Amino acid sequence: MDTYDKVFELAKNRGFIWPSFEIYGGASGFYDYGPMGATLKRKIEDAWRRLYCVGEGFYEIEAPTIGVEAIFEASGHVGGFADPMTTCQKCKESFRADHIIKGVMEIPDGLKKEQLTEIIKNKNIECPECGGPLGEVYDFNLMFNTWIGPGQKKKGYLRPETAQGMFVDFPRLLRFYREKLPFGVTQIGKSYRNEISPRQGVIRLREFTQAEAEVFVNPKDKNSHPNFAAVRDMVLSLYDEDCQLNNKPPVPMTVGDAVAKGTIANEYLAYYVALTNVFLATVGIDPKRLRFRQHMRTERAHYATDCWDAEVLLERFGWVEIVGIADRTNYDLTAHQKRSEVDMSVFVPFEKPMKVTRTIVTPDMKVIGPKYKGKAGKIMAALKAMKQEELSKPEVVLNIDGEDIVIPSSLFEHKTVEEDVSGENVLAHVVEPSYGVDRTLYSALEHAYGEEIVKGEERIVLRLARSVAPITAAVLPLLSKEPLAGKARAIALDLKEKGFFIEYDESGTIGKRYRRNDEVGTPFSITIDFDTMEDDTVTIRDRDTMSQVRVPVKDLSSVLGELLASDRPLTDFGKKVAAE
Ligand code: AMP
Repeated sequence: MDTYDKVFELAKNRGFIWPSFEIYGGASGFYDYGPMGATLKRKIEDAWRRLYCVGEGFYEIEAPTIGVEAIFEASGHVGGFADPMTTCQKCKESFRADHIIKGVMEIPDGLKKEQLTEIIKNKNIECPECGGPLGEVYDFNLMFNTWIGPGQKKKGYLRPETAQGMFVDFPRLLRFYREKLPFGVTQIGKSYRNEISPRQGVIRLREFTQAEAEVFVNPKDKNSHPNFAAVRDMVLSLYDEDCQLNNKPPVPMTVGDAVAKGTIANEYLAYYVALTNVFLATVGIDPKRLRFRQHMRTERAHYATDCWDAEVLLERFGWVEIVGIADRTNYDLTAHQKRSEVDMSVFVPFEKPMKVTRTIVTPDMKVIGPKYKGKAGKIMAALKAMKQEELSKPEVVLNIDGEDIVIPSSLFEHKTVEEDVSGENVLAHVVEPSYGVDRTLYSALEHAYGEEIVKGEERIVLRLARSVAPITAAVLPLLSKEPLAGKARAIALDLKEKGFFIEYDESGTIGKRYRRNDEVGTPFSITIDFDTMEDDTVTIRDRDTMSQVRVPVKDLSSVLGELLASDRPLTDFGKKVAAE
């Protein structure tokens, strides 16, 4: 068993992750979160909300998971959101062509389907299931489609990312944010991709949760993030294009240097790379198994100026992308503006009004109209778009629908006027941090997983971050008898009322109960024993060190509160007693 198998066994047995539809044989790419998993996921999402919604002030919205076709035509998903696929001619099983080839030899990302077909033929690569011949490589669109309403008139798609919901709401969001840039909006929700034969367990899912923020900013301001000073000195592990091309390890670099040296394209993008670093540490990703990888020029979407992936090291899968942070420029707003014909621009006032000269053209429509008939409108528009110098010539040549038309200067008048202009219309740029919640959750589990021998027995412990562990503290009466059980129940109830995630557990020996809680990552266990009945104190045990302190019952909630909000050791908070 490798670490993935061990973590997955634990996740199954302790109620974190279960294969979906198990009683019907399951389906790859779908997993359920059990009671511990769903609670962990919710807490990871809440940690994200604390950073993005509370900290950054980006309100969360909720758009449908099904979208109309126009959205995904505009976004490019209908035309281009596809993976290369090949189907076995014998057993009819389908595979991701590039993955099959990568199982046999090294190839660069982004090869065309014709190139992949050539490689499969030349290298005699066969079906990994039955050894049959593989067919030509073709594009398989990853979107799940459906019909909206009865019949087949209106096509719909399950969204492949949450982002589009935020782009199409841009005009309303702009009004909500009082017509001013920059502003941000967030969404946490399900996305769907019909991945071809997903074989990476919980890493590649067909239904997964994304937490995305869209930060809309005036392109002129991308190098002045208002809060940049707060992250300037943070050190990131940057695996930039140069490192990748020259086989060098990632470079530790401050966020400030990364922008100054041009490693990260601008302050906005760098700020959200830094915020991602903060978030991943908060939810328990091991900083030594985290790096930020720059997209190579060849793999970047054509519109993206710069793009970084937070990658974590997982034992079985190697470096895996869990967050993508991209400068998407004004690509999305331009695309939706064009398709919907709704103005997506923002009026940005100048600091003080500017004087501009403008040329006003007045065509003589009495002559142009009858003479050029159907083309008159286009001629008028073309004349109005011309510059002063061109209009001053004795005649102008206009290309209308491929035909050169000569218009003598007698057919129009023109004059130049000076005007005050108070601002300009701008299409906002978008910086998008896009988090995969499921991959983050699995990575947090794997990075938290530990095995050790304690008093000759194996202890499995999940060292989850205190703030995201599903159960904060287990309340354990030493014996399941009165008066200990009643006292323990009262303590548990009191802590629950104060908002802590508490589990009351009286079944089995105290040692077994500690182990059970270690395995689900409960950071603290509170034991009620006979001394409690005498002096109203309890023992708190620390999951990681197994050290124990004695604390008065009346202080329990404040001690737990402080422990949750910090990394301080338990031993700072009470009288140390002998460890377990
Ligand atoms: P992308 O839009 O492909 O850059 O995806 C953004 C994030 O969503 C990635 O960093 C992943 O964490 C997550 N993600 C994308 N595809 C999947 C998938 N098939 N299963 C689970 N998570 C995914």
